[in-house]
Amino acid sequence: MALAAGPERQTGKMVISNIGLMLSGDLAAPIMDADTIVAEGGRIVAVGRAKDVDTEGVTQRIDAHGCALSPGLIDSHVHPVFGDWTPRQGQFGWIDSFLNGGVTTMISAGEVHLPGRPRDIIGVKALAITAQRAYHNFRPGGVKVLGGAPVIEKGMVESDFAELAAAGVGLLGEVGLGSVKAGYEAKEMVAWARKYGIQSTIHTGGPSVPGSGYIDADTVLEADADIIGHINGGHTALPLRQIRCLCEGCGRGIEIVHNGNELAGLTALRFARELGQLERVILGTDSPAGSGVQPLGILRMIALMSSLGDLPAEQAFCLATGNTARMRKLDCGLIEAGRAADFMLMDRAQHSAGGDLLESVQMGDLPGIGMVIIDGVIRCGRSRNTPPADRVPELVI
Ligand SMILES: [Zn+2]
Repeated sequence: MALAAGPERQTGKMVISNIGLMLSGDLAAPIMDADTIVAEGGRIVAVGRAKDVDTEGVTQRIDAHGCALSPGLIDSHVHPVFGDWTPRQGQFGWIDSFLNGGVTTMISAGEVHLPGRPRDIIGVKALAITAQRAYHNFRPGGVKVLGGAPVIEKGMVESDFAELAAAGVGLLGEVGLGSVKAGYEAKEMVAWARKYGIQSTIHTGGPSVPGSGYIDADTVLEADADIIGHINGGHTALPLRQIRCLCEGCGRGIEIVHNGNELAGLTALRFARELGQLERVILGTDSPAGSGVQPLGILRMIALMSSLGDLPAEQAFCLATGNTARMRKLDCGLIEAGRAADFMLMDRAQHSAGGDLLESVQMGDLPGIGMVIIDGVIRCGRSRNTPPADRVPELVI
């Protein structure tokens, strides 16, 4: 099977049939009554039962052999630098490894690991624009990396945000990793960013590594960024009562990460459920980091939320797909016509104690991935990283 690594688009028409379980990514109805999906031009054009779906003129046919299909996973919090290299732990190919963990979109929380990262304002802007361009032009393994996330520094003015937005920058890196750490200062810049359509996220909790800062709940609430970045700390978490204040005190995204405090993460999930606001919960890895790089990090978070968090597995998948797409205003993450044709096909891992895929995840096991598709292009077959599954999809034509 030819693996494409560039940003090229799908040609022809793809149909995936015999899907045993269609996960929608939508918390309101996480399981769909459908076994067939059709993609054309990189987009979903139809989903339903085989007899009801138009497969005329299909050029690529995939038999899912009963595997489950989910929207491709979205990692809400990564720290890329350039290409498929990270200096944080000296690794190459880490993004391609995430593809083998079902991740089809990654969102940069700042290219902060660049050796010699500029801190002067023109340097900050230049790096952000360069990173945005570079990842727009190059998709490691085919993964869509939304890069170019400047870390705000003291002295930035409104026109800097207008300029960044005009240049194509759509994200701020974690507020608090630069010289702006006070709530009142962050609030002004976050509002400028929002005014020009730039999404923001804020570091929450203790310093990650020497040189980064401590950000408490009052500062997070005052800054009012769109996403409460790693509400469970990166790795040091706030006291649980402050995490409750964050969940109750605003309507912003509740981001729980792999490289954070697991108890705090599970507690944030519980608070969100008690508030009836599970749709705010999104998942990330916050990698690369001191804890390393986790190709299966998002799958592990889904299994953690489902097993120890007692969340039905079909809902846990939504935290890394539809929820993130909606909170982040992305065109992927949900199975519906018009959305990006980003899919993960998987099945229960061999010898799992769970009887089927959902039960196995709810028991804490990871699924076995059999194929990953991005924008209607097959990017990998059987994953080299997950445990092997009972069933694997097959490219028929
Ligand atoms: Zn952080």
